[in-house]
Amino acid sequence: MFRKIDVIIIVFFLILSIILIFKPYGYSAKKLMLVVENESFYIPYKDGKINLSGNIRDVFGNKHSIYKNMEFEIAGGRIRALHSDCANQICVRTSWIENCGDSIICAPNRVAVIIDCKEEDITRK
Ligand SMILES: [Zn+2]
Repeated sequence: MFRKIDVIIIVFFLILSIILIFKPYGYSAKKLMLVVENESFYIPYKDGKINLSGNIRDVFGNKHSIYKNMEFEIAGGRIRALHSDCANQICVRTSWIENCGDSIICAPNRVAVIIDCKEEDITRK
């Protein structure tokens, strides 16, 4: 016969193992890397619009001056280039990306957005 504490411990480890199984593939594991000219940094992966025409804050809260006529949109874990002033519009036509390793590249503006799913926790550096 099980004691109450045994049941609690079993349930606890069951929940823990479920969390550990799903976490690496979950939404929180994806990171958004912004590459502009020769610098790159991670930006918060949360729903909203990212206008590159001014200052952008990275995940550490540091400001980056970009001044590109581009805007990205994040919705439901997906990201796309909303508009861009580049001639070929390849970045805008790339449309939504959402998988690890996917990227939106704007060669004329020298801007790229990459979904990075590396294991390391970049917020703790
Ligand atoms: Zn473009």
